[in-house]
Amino acid sequence: MVIVMKPGVGQERIQTLVAQLERDHGVTVGVTNGVGCSILGLVGDTAHIDMDKLSLNDDVERVMRVQEPYKKANRKFHPEDTVVDVSGVPIGGGKFAVIAGPCSVESEEQIVGVARDVEAAGASLLRGGAFKPRTSPYSFQGMGTGGLELLLEAKAATGLPIVSEIMAPRYCELFEEKVDLVQVGARNMQNFDLLKEVGRLSKPILLKRGLSNTYEEWIMSAEYIMAAGNENVILCERGVRTFETYTRNTLDLSAIPAIRKMSHLPIVVDPSHAAGMYWMVEPLAMAAAAVGADGLMVEVHNNPPRAKCDGAQSLTPEKFRHLMDQLNPLVELMGKTLA
Ligand code: PEP
Ligand code: MN
Repeated sequence: MVIVMKPGVGQERIQTLVAQLERDHGVTVGVTNGVGCSILGLVGDTAHIDMDKLSLNDDVERVMRVQEPYKKANRKFHPEDTVVDVSGVPIGGGKFAVIAGPCSVESEEQIVGVARDVEAAGASLLRGGAFKPRTSPYSFQGMGTGGLELLLEAKAATGLPIVSEIMAPRYCELFEEKVDLVQVGARNMQNFDLLKEVGRLSKPILLKRGLSNTYEEWIMSAEYIMAAGNENVILCERGVRTFETYTRNTLDLSAIPAIRKMSHLPIVVDPSHAAGMYWMVEPLAMAAAAVGADGLMVEVHNNPPRAKCDGAQSLTPEKFRHLMDQLNPLVELMGKTLA
């Protein structure tokens, strides 16, 4: 962190601030006296220093960070890629994992049927929402705990580990017991109480990017989970809000190389929620693989027109099989193998 002092501030006042910073924050401060003003360089762990408070000091002109505020998620302190193990399925490293399944669990027949289809096509994890974050309170809210039980039946039938979204801290115990990968949805990316609580689980976390969040805000949310003790975090780009209204969201493929540079955590892409239209899912999925994603999350439904949620963006099992066939040689070309 660098502090630029106002022109004309005397050495005595500078030394008072230096002593205060060293005492209060355990950092070492170097002073450079320029022609017009002095600059303080803070060395040490500055993550917990409140920049806004510092800039309230009458002698301070400007405060700048030269280090990222995230530590545990930072690639600088952890150069190698993290590989997250989801009940035996590796996410990250040289593997490409495909998470597939319906937006929401609707019935035993539906979830077991889709699970068998996606497993046969090469998916490595089964998704299905039991608790749904819907814009309208009158829309289908999910089957709740019963939905998790049906996911477990589908897991027993296929061997696929299961992924489902948690919406509130009070469900932590339930998800710890039932689910292999706990999803924190876009709408809850900055629900800090929830992040702290899932940070205490032993299960890995799939952290989706918020609807309008920057890379740094997203990584800071991962940092919350990691700081609470759970370092098994997978990031998921699912499109962000832009001025474009043709698609549901705009898939931000720049996120993949950017996150790779900023963090060591694995990153997967959800083209379904980005596009909002089934026919865009395959090209966007291919692009995600080509730009270096560690995997995909794709919505698949046995009867999209009758889906209780997100039918328009859901692939049929046939279209999903087509996607997997297209994807296979591309994944190989990228030097990876399907998980
Ligand atoms: C979902 O995966 O079903 C979902 C609601 O996604 P998102 O949080 O990205 O909108
Ligand atoms: Mn959905």
